[in-house]
Amino acid sequence: MQFENTRDFAKKLDAQDKLAVYKDEFIFPVINGKKVIYFTGNSLGLQPKRSQKYINDIMNDWGGLAVEGHFKAEKPWWDYHERLSEPLSKVVGAKPEEVTVMNTLTVNLHLLMVSFYRPTKKRFKIICEEKAFPSDQYMLASQVRFHGFDPKEAIVEVKKRKGENFWRTEDVVKEIDAVGDELALVLIGGVNYYNGQVFDMETITKAGKKNGAFVGWDLAHAAGNVKLELNKWGVDFAAWCSYKYMNSGPGNASGAYINEKYLDKKDIPRFEGWWGTKKETRFLMEPEFHPMSNAEAWQVSNAPVLSIAPYLASLSLFDEVSMDELIAKRNVLTAYLEFVLHTIDAELGDTTIFEIITPKERGCQLSVFLHGQGKELFDYLMENGVITDWREPNVIRLAPTPFYNSFEEMYEFGQILKRGIQQIN
Ligand SMILES: *Cc1c(COP(=O)(O)O)cnc(C)c1O
Repeated sequence: MQFENTRDFAKKLDAQDKLAVYKDEFIFPVINGKKVIYFTGNSLGLQPKRSQKYINDIMNDWGGLAVEGHFKAEKPWWDYHERLSEPLSKVVGAKPEEVTVMNTLTVNLHLLMVSFYRPTKKRFKIICEEKAFPSDQYMLASQVRFHGFDPKEAIVEVKKRKGENFWRTEDVVKEIDAVGDELALVLIGGVNYYNGQVFDMETITKAGKKNGAFVGWDLAHAAGNVKLELNKWGVDFAAWCSYKYMNSGPGNASGAYINEKYLDKKDIPRFEGWWGTKKETRFLMEPEFHPMSNAEAWQVSNAPVLSIAPYLASLSLFDEVSMDELIAKRNVLTAYLEFVLHTIDAELGDTTIFEIITPKERGCQLSVFLHGQGKELFDYLMENGVITDWREPNVIRLAPTPFYNSFEEMYEFGQILKRGIQQIN
């Protein structure tokens, strides 16, 4: 498509966009009387209007039914979480029985380590990406120490090449093969939070499996953003938070995926609690644990219904719009933003102001290195109703999301950015 950096052109794209109506499903912050241009769906997705009702229903049932709500609420609480598995399984490319919602992301990764990081004297190493999200680094290092190993020896980080801003799949695979029979686990962020790169999850999973390791993915920046085929790729396990592209609310419940081959097994190590035992016999309160035959066997506590309610609300949107439709719009929207950035560069007569460090394997997010521009520009954008996200040393992350960002916003953003640069220089 031949793009133009004009409001008319952007409006024409909006008029052709079947998903444009979904913008009105979300609540936008207002700055100086105007709805913001929201670029931080990669950090905290906007609130779907319909989530309020889902929460109110629980509050009303709690008020009106109290403990009886567990079984008599319109959506009974004792099996409330089951409602999320089916719609969520479509988002991540899994079978419904492989997916559940519980706890929060880092907690789930720790719990999944019990099953999928089982180091031996010989096979104890973990491969991850260098500069992984800090919580993942702390999680991995503390797991390694818990098992009596030294993180310096056990954790192998795949580096980017000198002068490059992205990881090469061949380098990841080479490292996996090099660690070989010492490799216990591969755990990488499927979409890197910093540069927005989408890893080749299929190839890397295959390489890890070939070497006899478990392979898991942290899908915090991937769920609801990129095409996932966890079952088809043979991924062992994965977890993701729901408050980024999944729009379920701050700090909210996490999704977990466990490959079907580990389901309905009694002998897999796992930390267990009463919500993981078969529901038919759960309330007999007997001492034996009979695991649920699906991913719910990993559920420890009774479900935090108030926090999964807005997740269910958000999933009803993902049930109306498929990932393929979202991705089709995302590709054009992100490409248009990229075009706008390059056009502004050229109009300012300096093609070195922005450097997009996100490689072509990307989802919504463009990470833009601002040469010679400081945090003042970020502040200017905020004052002018554009919410972006700043990462040291000099990177703004822009994540136009297909659910609620428009083409006209990309154009408008370009104009604000240009004025900001002219004003600050
Ligand atoms: C956002 C994010 C987290 C956040 O973890 P919580 O346990 O939900 O606080 C973890 N890992 C990655 C890769 C993330 O992007």
